[in-house]
Amino acid sequence: MTTTDSILAPGFKTTPWWWEAAEPVARDSVLPDRAGVAIVGGGYAGLSAALTLRRLGHEVTVLDAERIGWGASSRNGGMVSGGLKVASGALTKSYGVERGRAIADAAAASFPFIEETIAREGIDCDYLRCGRFVPAWTPKHYDGLAARANFIAEVTGLPTRMLPRERQREALGSDHYHGGMIAEASGSLHPGKYARGLADAAERAGARLVDGVRVGGIRQDGTGFRITTDRGQMRADAVLVATNGYSRDSEGKSAMPWLARRMIPVGSYIIATEELPAEMMDRLFPGRRMISDTRRVLSYFRPSPFGNRILWGGRASFGPTAPDVAAPVLRGFMLSVFPELKDVRLTHAWTGNVAFTFDFLPHIGVQDGIHYAAGCQGSGVAMATWLGHRAALKIAGADNQGFALDGLNFPTAPLYNGNPNWFLPIVGGWYRLRDHLDRAAA
Ligand SMILES: Cc1cc2nc3c(=O)[nH]c(=O)nc-3n(C[C@H](O)[C@H](O)[C@H](O)COP(=O)(O)OP(=O)(O)OC[C@H]3O[C@@H](n4cnc5c(N)ncnc54)[C@H](O)[C@@H]3O)c2cc1C
Repeated sequence: MTTTDSILAPGFKTTPWWWEAAEPVARDSVLPDRAGVAIVGGGYAGLSAALTLRRLGHEVTVLDAERIGWGASSRNGGMVSGGLKVASGALTKSYGVERGRAIADAAAASFPFIEETIAREGIDCDYLRCGRFVPAWTPKHYDGLAARANFIAEVTGLPTRMLPRERQREALGSDHYHGGMIAEASGSLHPGKYARGLADAAERAGARLVDGVRVGGIRQDGTGFRITTDRGQMRADAVLVATNGYSRDSEGKSAMPWLARRMIPVGSYIIATEELPAEMMDRLFPGRRMISDTRRVLSYFRPSPFGNRILWGGRASFGPTAPDVAAPVLRGFMLSVFPELKDVRLTHAWTGNVAFTFDFLPHIGVQDGIHYAAGCQGSGVAMATWLGHRAALKIAGADNQGFALDGLNFPTAPLYNGNPNWFLPIVGGWYRLRDHLDRAAA
């Protein structure tokens, strides 16, 4: 019988494996009385915005309730994609061909932008343009991917190709799926190192980063804004809120309640295995690509940077669940794809919040004079970096090209207050059931 003890390695931790190399550091900095631009949220979006604003000569302070980079930005899977989720034919159905295409292009531009940012700022984050393999859960999903492949290649500007089931082992050491798509416009990085590198770059450029300060309210005051925090008040000429999946705290408070009502925070979980032999990693991940499957409740997995362990992510639960409780569930998903890992133990399991929106699109815009950049749908390494930059251009009045994700109608739902915990188990359970039914019918 497998016990939890037997699957957890000695010294097992419930903090991100990434933090072993790059744990967000405490800054112990002073809250200023005023700022040119105050940015609420010190993840990729807030830090990228700070960097761009500094480059354009604006005085910037980034405020984070925890440590800078503490949120999803140092907890994610480190899979870098160019808006693969956004680029689908459904867009043209909802927005018409021209606008749908413009939205897909705007999202895809996040990929060259993050590559350029990493290179320009010299960020040491193990970045690799390795490509992504998207294995199909059912033969029908394979056909759906094939129909999307050309559209994705067109908008990302990099090739895609289909790998039928009989050739699947060229990309994945498993027969669990029904073939899949290889998308070249995709890479991998170490998210903790990237968050730290972006923070260092923003600081080097002159941004002030203040941690341990929770913003409780923002209101217009004369020509600027008065920001209330748990460490006193400050003024700013402009404010950007970039709180994504952490827009509402456990007590229901929010820096910007309007935004919180448009974010659906969902916990995503990741496990890390102990170190594995190189020959096994070569067999399981030929090509060393990032993998995310086509289920509604998807699994995403990858080799670690330097390729000696597996990081496996997914939705272990749709309610608040401790990472050590989630770990055996994720391990079960992993064994269904790679049964040979049954004796492999886990060294880490952790969680973080992603943010979905009711229209499944990322957004930037302005509400009551306050700028926002949020809603990355669980795919925000490149996207949050890009949204922050675009929001910064807008604040600086330097956005002369227009941006299709700016100012879109931003839906919420009646009576929704930013806490999805009462409906997520129902919707998540329904999605999971549909995944099972699809597979059973295949
Ligand atoms: C487990 C997991 C796996 C993921 N895997 C991937 C992946 O492989 N690829 C990918 O592209 N994306 C992935 N994502 C998504 C990606 O990490 C996010 O989209 C991205 O990091 C969002 O960045 P952000 O700056 O918008 O938000 P965050 O990094 O979440 O930062 C928001 C910050 O706001 C702060 N904050 C909130 N409220 C306040 C307040 N009132 N006052 C002050 N500060 C406040 C929080 O403390 C937090 O630090 C994953 C996410 C998770 C959680």
